[in-house]
Amino acid sequence: MTTARIFCIANQKGGVGKTTTTINLSAGLASLGWRVLLVDLDPQGNATMGSGVDKRKLELSVYDVLLESASVAEARVRSERGGYDVLGANRELAGAEVELVPLPHRNERLRRALTAVEGDYDFVLIDCPPSLSMLTLNGLCAAHGVVVPMQCEYFALEGLSDLVNTVKQVHANLNCDLELIGLLRIMFDPRITLQTQVSEQLKAHFGDKVFNTVIPRNVRLAEAPSHGMPGVVYDPAAKGAQAFVAFAREMAQRLGAAKTAQPVTPTPAPQSEGLPG
Ligand code: ADP
Ligand code: MG
Repeated sequence: MTTARIFCIANQKGGVGKTTTTINLSAGLASLGWRVLLVDLDPQGNATMGSGVDKRKLELSVYDVLLESASVAEARVRSERGGYDVLGANRELAGAEVELVPLPHRNERLRRALTAVEGDYDFVLIDCPPSLSMLTLNGLCAAHGVVVPMQCEYFALEGLSDLVNTVKQVHANLNCDLELIGLLRIMFDPRITLQTQVSEQLKAHFGDKVFNTVIPRNVRLAEAPSHGMPGVVYDPAAKGAQAFVAFAREMAQRLGAAKTAQPVTPTPAPQSEGLPG
């Protein structure tokens, strides 16, 4: 049995594409045959809704899991369109920020809860809220790595150093498994000179921590959530959808996932090498 690789999609800025990345990377990995769980850690519940799960109708959510009144197995639901499981969130989760404070292991509750299902998945992707809150800390403590979506804009690099420091601190004090997996350039428009410049700066500064795949600005990705499905499923031929599938491939390769596990889609049996004679 394989054990899930767990990633936070994080950036303390809002509107940089965290949720879009979480949804479409989940759908992209699922389309390649990997078993995926999406965890929505943002009380806005956008990743839940964008996966086609109505946050207002959730019987159990990540809130119940953090407060240990439900297990992940009890609270997860299926994104039929996305082909992955969802541990959903809604406004109730905002209360957890306060309710967790006096509780034991308050930063490690998600990690503990995920242990019970890590054999069920190849990837767990956690959509973090735009802050370095206790919810984000729960995500960072549960994860093996952080994926940072970012727009190539003037202030992008400035915000990045805060996040890199947080990852270092969590690594040093709370979770020695945690590493920065990579930076994903998203909503990219190569016609804008500034974006090309910032992209070059990023590569100069972070080297191969910058993913090769670039997600273009693509209106189909922005439209998809209102139809309750990932962009990858809503319009698979669109440039944004194809970029996310390419990104899913790059992630799996970068992690060497292909070496330790195989997607559930059947692969043709190798030809046996018959000896002559
Ligand atoms: P975050 O979760 O970081 O707040 P979102 O994923 O919600 O960011 O994205 C913010 C807005 O940008 C949303 O309206 C989303 O649809 C849009 N968006 C994200 N990525 C793209 C893209 N590649 N092309 C066009 N619009 C995008
Ligand atoms: Mg979001």
